[in-house]
Amino acid sequence: MKLTILGCYSATPRALTNTTSQVLEINNHMFLIDCGEGTQIHLRKNKIKFNRIKHVFISHLHGDHFFGLVGLISTFRLLTREADLHIYGPEGIKEIVTLQMKLADSWTNYNLIFHELKSNTSELIFDDESVEVYTIPLNHRVYTNGFLFKEKEGDLRLDIDAVEEAHIDLAYYRKLKQGFDVVNEKGELIKNKTVTLPGAKPKSYAFCSDTMYKEDIVPIINKVDVLYHESTFLEKHADLAPKTKHSTAKEAARIAKKAKAGILLLGHYSTRYDGLNAFKEEAQEIFENVELCEDGKVFEF
Ligand SMILES: [Zn+2]
Repeated sequence: MKLTILGCYSATPRALTNTTSQVLEINNHMFLIDCGEGTQIHLRKNKIKFNRIKHVFISHLHGDHFFGLVGLISTFRLLTREADLHIYGPEGIKEIVTLQMKLADSWTNYNLIFHELKSNTSELIFDDESVEVYTIPLNHRVYTNGFLFKEKEGDLRLDIDAVEEAHIDLAYYRKLKQGFDVVNEKGELIKNKTVTLPGAKPKSYAFCSDTMYKEDIVPIINKVDVLYHESTFLEKHADLAPKTKHSTAKEAARIAKKAKAGILLLGHYSTRYDGLNAFKEEAQEIFENVELCEDGKVFEF
């Protein structure tokens, strides 16, 4: 998994900070998560190929999470995109996007496929042979979902020495990786277990923004490898968190601890603060393995 942070600040884009957007590369997919203003510029800066993006996940319809979407859709059109674009987001996202296109008479020449969300319980919204995506219902001022991305169990690996020793024809390697027993060149049955090794451990990533402290997401993200949890405020402004339905760094850490996450990534910082170290320090009082998101930062897991 490779996660590129295109933007990780709240509220408004500024000269040196961007609003929320990330790209998650997982099993050959490039998932765009949220699309704050100017996301297309940050995709270019980070050399992410536009045509690899086929799925966009929008958490909620506050501007700092989706104002870049119409611009991106329009640019795709100008670049004569042909591939379908799937957009997952709150009910209403289709209306808000298509109204702008309709009044500008600028329809796309590729398919825009909207998957509107309205459930208040976690649901499976994407599923193919290698990845599943579930919603994580959050508690914010408008209807909001986080997203849980889960790799599926991969193929078995071949124990090459054992395979050669067992005189198995190359043509059967694929069957072996899929878990089948095969017959070798001498006509003997070879048990799969004797020539294969377990596949790579599937990884998972949870994106949780925006939300106030919401403990009931813990079972959904239990033992997630990487948890991004918004941390808009520091302790000195803790009173603002419930009022604005955001979280503090400590609250993010509390969720990470309860969920037994592997690592916690902090982001969605309020722009009122100079510097980010205090976010990490406060979170680490509760949960040790904390990293700070920064615009342009790349994490590989
Ligand atoms: Zn918001």
